[in-house]
Amino acid sequence: MDGGQEAVKRDREPAKKMSLNAWREEGERLFGKDPMAWKFVCPVCGNIQSAADFQGLDGASPEDAYYNCLGRFLPTAESREAFPGKGGRRNPARPCNYTLGGLFHLPGAIVAGEDGKEYSVFGFANEEKSHG
Ligand SMILES: [Zn+2]
Repeated sequence: MDGGQEAVKRDREPAKKMSLNAWREEGERLFGKDPMAWKFVCPVCGNIQSAADFQGLDGASPEDAYYNCLGRFLPTAESREAFPGKGGRRNPARPCNYTLGGLFHLPGAIVAGEDGKEYSVFGFANEEKSHG
């Protein structure tokens, strides 16, 4: 050890940076080989979703599972706004319409792609549950 930075207590854990390979390995370790079964958690409403949940939804693709909350692709009555303003749609039992592509950037992890770019993604579902 060379006296690197120690973890600092924060209210919110900073997004973990990882390589694409490390991210894939973690997904496989947690949920198995099939990425369609990997579960991600929305940082705003806590909805747990997998790519399979997005199949058959209008305008959705499997990649949305780690970038957009499921509520973006559901009818108004079955979703809620991520950040409801005055008169906004509050529907707490439903997935919200949060996207990492919007104004509020709350990634669960940042993955370094093979193209050298960094991609923000939702965290894997069971990472959000702290074990004591
Ligand atoms: Zn959400």
